[in-house]
Amino acid sequence: MIKTRFAPSPTGRMHVGNLRTALYAYLIARHGNGTFMLRIEDTDQERFVEGALDIIYRTLDHAGLHHDEGPDKDGGVGPYVQSDRCRMGLYQTYAEKLVESGDAYYCFCTKERLDSLKGDGEEEFGKYDKHCLHLSKEEIADNLAKGMPYVIRLNVPTEGTTSFQDEIYGEITVNNDELDDMILIKSDGFPTYNFANVVDDHLMGITHVVRGNEYLASSPKYNLLYKAFGWDVPVYVHCPLITDENHHKLSKRSGHSSFEDLLDQGFISEAIVNYVALLGWSPEDNNEILTLKELEEKFDYTRIGKSPAVFDMGKLRWMNGEYIKKMDRAAFLEKAMPIMGEFVPAGADVNKVADMVQPRIEVFNDIPALIDFLKEVPAYTIDMYRHKKMKTDEALSLQVLTDVIPVLEGTDDYSNDALYQLLLAFANEKGLKNGQVMWPVRTAVSGKAQTPGGATQLLEVLGKEESLKRIRTAIEKLQAEI
Ligand code: GLU
Repeated sequence: MIKTRFAPSPTGRMHVGNLRTALYAYLIARHGNGTFMLRIEDTDQERFVEGALDIIYRTLDHAGLHHDEGPDKDGGVGPYVQSDRCRMGLYQTYAEKLVESGDAYYCFCTKERLDSLKGDGEEEFGKYDKHCLHLSKEEIADNLAKGMPYVIRLNVPTEGTTSFQDEIYGEITVNNDELDDMILIKSDGFPTYNFANVVDDHLMGITHVVRGNEYLASSPKYNLLYKAFGWDVPVYVHCPLITDENHHKLSKRSGHSSFEDLLDQGFISEAIVNYVALLGWSPEDNNEILTLKELEEKFDYTRIGKSPAVFDMGKLRWMNGEYIKKMDRAAFLEKAMPIMGEFVPAGADVNKVADMVQPRIEVFNDIPALIDFLKEVPAYTIDMYRHKKMKTDEALSLQVLTDVIPVLEGTDDYSNDALYQLLLAFANEKGLKNGQVMWPVRTAVSGKAQTPGGATQLLEVLGKEESLKRIRTAIEKLQAEI
């Protein structure tokens, strides 16, 4: 039975990389009808950020990655928060077992001594020199009795090699003499991540460990720990690095890398989740638009790649646009109205505005630039009336607008279809091309060279009174400025 976990540290916002780890762990569990667990890794008290826990819960919930077990859902292997486990003395107990078996030892070295090891350049990587491994039982008992601060270190063999198998990166072997005697229990009594993750993954029955590849280099040490305890090693799935478009590691500074930032920028969570799934993984067929349900069916972790995945904002925008197009109208309006609302003219049919907006935006924040003219015609220069292809210019436009006023005054049917027929008939009667009528009308009511709809669509949304008012203002402008 597959069991995966997402094990975030509450250190701030949920970045795209964290979200991808959570998603892959979730998908591996769901794909294999397994269990997805949430564990909070808060043993690094210095990095703890107030409110970060809420962000984790909110993000998982919003993204639809619902866990089966976690601090708020007991599955029988809790507590699920490492500081709670620490208070039970759990890590200390397990570390002491290793001390007894000779696989770990107390270390009382001062910071000064440790710094001097780094300084002299003789020891590779400032490796710890196993000084305290050689303390006698009496010295240790004495130091402990005196309350001397200590850490517990893993006793890494000085010879031989350690290998481990990663599902993505294959078999990796390192020489043991390259490995430091890592700290298992810190002087504040808390375990290190390195120790706690192994103890917890084992005790909590995790079968597949999914995490970022920054942990790849430490995995041999984890294997030494599993071996020392006589525990089975889990399946390792280390996910590839995520970079920005310039192939730099994604950073907070790039601004777009937190899930909630993306939501604030007008992205929808389904599209973000879909896009994030593709950062290092691809489905067998090339259909990239996949709902979470479809991802659960298709996600095969052996298809995760090794090479860094590029976070491409343009592609995420495109994908978001695809999701927006597919939304049913009610869902679209629910998301769009908080932004769109202020631009919908009084009395206008919201659906007509939505018809113009929904197929054209990639993110909801594109809305203002697209339809701000509905609220007010922006400042424009009259050369906008000059258009070669439409065979028109300022003077002809002035003429057309002046002549079209009575036509538009003479009808109360401001539906797009009726107005369109009316203006075609008007053009025909005057011996004008359609564009010679539509272009000036559209410019007059929008002040823009590009609008999300033709002249008569805009008239329909603006309504009779506002449309006529705008055309009259345009006539005055042309008269004054030609
Ligand atoms: N607590 C670690 C982090 O947030 C998680 C690493 C893991 O998934 O094992 O980076």
